[in-house]
Amino acid sequence: MTDVAARASAGFHQTYGTAPAGRWAAPGRVNLIGEHTDYNDGFVLPFALPLRTVVAAAARDDARWTVRSELSADPVEFGPAEADAPGRVTGWAAYVAGVVWALRAAGHQVPGARLAIASDVPVGSGLSSSAAVESAVLAALVELGGLDLPADRWPRLAQRAENDYVGAPTGIMDQSAVIRCRKGHALFLDCRTEEVEQIPFDLDAAGLAVLVIDSRAPHRHADGEYAARRASCERAAARLGVPALRDVATADLDAALARLDDDETRRRVRHVVTEDQRVLDTVELLRAGRVAEIGPLLTASHASMRDDFEITVPEIDTAVEAALAAGALGARMTGGGFGGCVLALVEAAAAERVATAVADAYAERGFAAPGTLTVLPAGGAHRLD
Ligand code: ADP
Ligand code: MG
Repeated sequence: MTDVAARASAGFHQTYGTAPAGRWAAPGRVNLIGEHTDYNDGFVLPFALPLRTVVAAAARDDARWTVRSELSADPVEFGPAEADAPGRVTGWAAYVAGVVWALRAAGHQVPGARLAIASDVPVGSGLSSSAAVESAVLAALVELGGLDLPADRWPRLAQRAENDYVGAPTGIMDQSAVIRCRKGHALFLDCRTEEVEQIPFDLDAAGLAVLVIDSRAPHRHADGEYAARRASCERAAARLGVPALRDVATADLDAALARLDDDETRRRVRHVVTEDQRVLDTVELLRAGRVAEIGPLLTASHASMRDDFEITVPEIDTAVEAALAAGALGARMTGGGFGGCVLALVEAAAAERVATAVADAYAERGFAAPGTLTVLPAGGAHRLD
């Protein structure tokens, strides 16, 4: 397949009969560690993928927006009336209309524009193709309109587009990662304060790589289960008298667990509190350049999601077990659970062997073949040319 940037330009030309004024790219992301910690005011540590979404765009004279995507044969056009009414534009174009809405709602003079989207980020696999689209579109509109909007305010706007226009309840992690990540780094994000810190994560220099394994598992009841986990955490925090589970210190965990009266809630709380600690421990190791040593923390995170938070499925557990058996230094599910992706930390030279071992284990269990991809941490949203 041709390069994604070339496809975006070709799509623009095909739809509008002219060349774009520019192209803006935003990557997919994967969360290295810190799962279901975001809505507990805790810590996450995502990094950007080398897979990108590219938007080719040009301003137009009237206040209307036309957008086409490789996902659909037909372009979608909307004006201010549709953009200003959350939910009016539906389907994939809602992610674009949502960005126009969020900008206008924040008082910005959004230029009318023609846009063409191409992407290498798999859709719906938990690698945040949605934030990639929002962020690339946002970058394009900010520059085309000469808007006075520093990049540290972009994540909130893109999140509002997804939460309030599209109607998908997500935290601030995806957009923060997609916009703010830097090459060779992971982004340490405090979900309470929204403070970020770039943490060196130079896999290449360490002779390592991350293997991202798309489990291809059908998302089973993911929305309902997510809501149930969230409610359980909120109830537990209220019972413990803290604003959020982030406020339960690791040293106080046993005492906190003793104050809860059912085993399921205790296990949910234990996952969140220990997971926050694992993020902090991972950050410490990475700051010290001890990259290979984070493996056991990744694997412990997986065990916690499987046994305490109960959000894994057989395909996911199979991928983790097979990767570890084939020599991965650590492996875990990444993302909200009930499907999605697994990541494995591997010696670069072993990536292919581990990928093959996972595919073999899948075949043995009769699962649909997994997708595998070897990645190094990439940079966030930017203009291409
Ligand atoms: P993900 O885990 O990939 O972010 P989501 O369900 O959050 O999954 O978002 C996927 C949705 O984002 C798609 O169904 C589509 O509406 C939109 N989207 C993603 N990529 C594109 C694209 N290249 N063009 C148009 N819309 C896209
Ligand atoms: Mg998404």
